[in-house]
Amino acid sequence: TTSDSQSLLQYGANVTHGVSRITEGIMKSGKGSYVEYDDGRKMLDFTCGIGVTSLGHCHPKVSKAAADQCMDIVHVQCSIAFHEPYLRLIQKLLPIMPDPSLDSFFFWNSGSEAVEATLKLARTVTGRQNFICMQGAYHGRTFGAMAVTRSKTIYSKGVAPLMPGVFTMPFPFWHQLGLPPSTPESTLVAQSLYQLELLLAQQTAPSDTAAIIVEPVLGEGGYVPAPAAFLKGLREVCDKHGILLIADEVQCGFARTGTFFAIEESGVRPDIMVIAKGLANGFPLSGVISRKELTDKLQPGSFGGTYAGNAVSCAAACAVVDAMHAEDILLNVRARSAELLASLHGLKAAYPGHILDVRGRGLMLAVEFATPAGPGAAHDAVASPQVGKTLAARVAKRCIEKGMLILTTSVYEVVRFIPPLNISAADLKKGAEIFKEAVEEVVR
Ligand code: PMP
Repeated sequence: TTSDSQSLLQYGANVTHGVSRITEGIMKSGKGSYVEYDDGRKMLDFTCGIGVTSLGHCHPKVSKAAADQCMDIVHVQCSIAFHEPYLRLIQKLLPIMPDPSLDSFFFWNSGSEAVEATLKLARTVTGRQNFICMQGAYHGRTFGAMAVTRSKTIYSKGVAPLMPGVFTMPFPFWHQLGLPPSTPESTLVAQSLYQLELLLAQQTAPSDTAAIIVEPVLGEGGYVPAPAAFLKGLREVCDKHGILLIADEVQCGFARTGTFFAIEESGVRPDIMVIAKGLANGFPLSGVISRKELTDKLQPGSFGGTYAGNAVSCAAACAVVDAMHAEDILLNVRARSAELLASLHGLKAAYPGHILDVRGRGLMLAVEFATPAGPGAAHDAVASPQVGKTLAARVAKRCIEKGMLILTTSVYEVVRFIPPLNISAADLKKGAEIFKEAVEEVVR
């Protein structure tokens, strides 16, 4: 097979240059927390394919549910008929919604598509045009999703015009507000909510503003959990002005943060919630969840799509929800999170000049490195944010060389940890050790 793959690999040159990759070769199989390349390399996977294979690769119950569904029916177009897994999935999701008011479902394939549907829904039901998004937000690479994305210019560079009517407010993240990492949360929250007030007074009138879209944990913008007070503040502003609150739970949802949905911890009720990634453990599936009271205003036929809510993906998602309950996944997330955090905080204490921040929630954690200026650079980092990935990229590369897949994120020096939610204590410890060794070797 090695000569087979050598000859196959030449076709890599025919893959569009627009896609980047962090490893060489062909990934051939995956089981639980590990993947294997066809040259025999075995890697511990702390990426989960960017937060997707949350129950590990090829979870036996999920794969079986999908395989069984393949023998019954694969494709039931949503405008032709209901299919059983679609309805069963709704039955399973209803009891775990962060608020009982979320009772209307639409399934699509990817996060980006679900964001598109969400923007369309918000405009349709409010009759208003404008959106407010967060600095650092990532919502996808399609045109509407790109228009509300603020994490990196690379996604939309050179392809304007995007959807107009999008305004940006700061997320309560010290970098964005030009404040030191030690700034109290209450100050960050007050500052960003003040900027929202200014936006609504100076740039987009509330009566023109359809929705505010927020990731309860800012993902591609740096792995920053939104404080509960911030989400409550957004809810209050939305309630006051009839603006919809959209929670993009694509990356932080589905048990990733130790609750089924990240917004749960704040007690805030979103008007629309977007889910994808971990929902079907690798099968393409996303969802837009809202209130019937809102979606009843839609004209039948205005929402849909050839593959929307695929039967195999929905069957996989049903098995995901069942497995999450059966495996007490939330308990594992919290226990493993505490262990990984302890290890990362230990590392920060050992390298205070190199590690600026350890943050995140559940198994969505991050380490931010200081600028290459070295020890004591924390303040330089604030005065002049390091746009680039020197230390973080070198540490991630070293981890990969040592047998662990791991990703960086944001325009800052951030390495992110997205291990499987059912990872064993031993594998988690192994990953933490690899990371520690990589940091020691790189900063030495
Ligand atoms: N929203 C968020 C918060 C995301 O993290 C992502 C993907 N990284 C998306 C939307 C887009 O999802 P997809 O890549 O499935 O289109």
